[in-house]
Amino acid sequence: TRRAVWFRRDLRLNDHTALAKALEHTKDDDQMVLFFHIHPSLNESFTPRHDYFFQTLKSLVDRAEEWKAPIHFIHGDTEEAFRHLLEELEVDMLYFNRDEVGFGRERDESITEYLGNRDVEVYSYNDHHLHGADEVQKNDGGFYKVFSPYLKKWKQLQKPAIQKVDHDQLSSSALDERKAFSEGQRAYDDLIKKTAGVYDGVGEKDALERLDHFLDEDIYDYDERRDFPAIDGTSLMSRFLRTGAISIRTIYHKIEEDVDFRKNTSGVDTYISELAWRDFYNMIYHYYPDANSTEMVEKYRGIPWNNDDEVLGKWKEGQTGFPLIDAAMRQLNETGWMHNRLRMAVASFLTKDLLMDWREGERYFSEQLVDYDPASNIGGWQWAASTGTDPVPYFRIFNPTRQSERFDPHGRFIKEWLPELENVKKKHIHEPSKMTEEEQKEAGCIVGEDYPEPIVDHKTMRERAIEMFKDKA
Ligand code: FAD
Repeated sequence: TRRAVWFRRDLRLNDHTALAKALEHTKDDDQMVLFFHIHPSLNESFTPRHDYFFQTLKSLVDRAEEWKAPIHFIHGDTEEAFRHLLEELEVDMLYFNRDEVGFGRERDESITEYLGNRDVEVYSYNDHHLHGADEVQKNDGGFYKVFSPYLKKWKQLQKPAIQKVDHDQLSSSALDERKAFSEGQRAYDDLIKKTAGVYDGVGEKDALERLDHFLDEDIYDYDERRDFPAIDGTSLMSRFLRTGAISIRTIYHKIEEDVDFRKNTSGVDTYISELAWRDFYNMIYHYYPDANSTEMVEKYRGIPWNNDDEVLGKWKEGQTGFPLIDAAMRQLNETGWMHNRLRMAVASFLTKDLLMDWREGERYFSEQLVDYDPASNIGGWQWAASTGTDPVPYFRIFNPTRQSERFDPHGRFIKEWLPELENVKKKHIHEPSKMTEEEQKEAGCIVGEDYPEPIVDHKTMRERAIEMFKDKA
């Protein structure tokens, strides 16, 4: 019997449901083949997100090589690539960790049908989340639209166990048929050549190290430190979760094992509820499959958002004249990651101060974020735009200057990303345009030349945003 395990966004060799199950089903001289599918559309758009993803894939490929369980690459449109796999390898069974949302869900459904028609048995699993989209239900069987009751139910449910992978068994059953897939191998090599970014942590080993570091200390006061972008107070797990370099079960069980629950645990509780947000948004996107393009709340579907490329460009580049917003966008552009507090602030700014369409922001994040996750990103954007199922109310609009004073009081984060403001005094760091000419000269920062004037007046735009929503509410 020949089993194939399809790697997708689960780029690791530990605690991997599809791999563990395939090995569990393996007997005597059964064989196993590991593979990844490269779609030709990747050559058309290669964004920072892809750059990071392929670096993670490389780290999996290298690791699998060490374990004598090489990864094969199939290449081409999905059906064409799978036809080639079947012709070359006569696979009897396919194993993968399924997607419940978006493009992945459609692809999984069509490939399951395609293989089913060719007598290949398909086994797919919920692996990416602690609880899949239909596991956390109301008592009447419906789904939750609001997070807090969802969280209450989520906490009551038993969490899935670690899916142990037997390394020796993997090495002894794995096939090496890479010669038959040279075209796929070339496509992989070409993509790896394109990768150039330098990132803070790539792949399984880095993920586990970073998690240990976070659980040693930072998790205990996560609730107090997580909102301050100048502090390294969050876990940075999102990039590893998105690529699957770490399993969500490993994170959950390591917390249970490693955390000293005698210490203050409000940080731990807050952290666990963040993991539940990830499940929540996956569930929401599952039940609102059009949420990538359509407002979840029907009455807000006709909002007349602005459409101005110049304004959008200034937001993207971090040239709005609001220091915290600009510093955040430059952090994103340079590192592929942005702090959560700032994601909320820049999303609110784009939609409520610039009145721009949230879909534009969602799209830009999808290109730039190394942790881009459609469900969480769409959820976050529709939350900020007040169009989601459990959003920030449209009349409670973030004031970008107050956010800056509150969450970066000394301007440390701002100065890290906006060198032009380096010598601006603390009392002006949140509003450099308030400096007198004399003060600007002294700070070596002429507003309008070295750093932009504010692109809008917050008070005016706030009123216009509220009007825009009121008209529809
Ligand atoms: P931590 O604070 O350490 O949180 C731990 C984990 O919990 C995260 O890794 C993540 O998996 C999960 N988590 C935390 N907050 C949220 C949240 N609000 N929603 C869903 N999951 C959460 N997260 C993504 O993973 N991908 C995205 O594309 C994404 N886009 C966002 C867009 C907007 C507009 C907003 C407001 C939030 C978005 N988030 C997204 C959620 C959150 O900002 C990131 O998960 C977080 O900043 C990642 O850093 P961390 O791993 O250090 O987080």
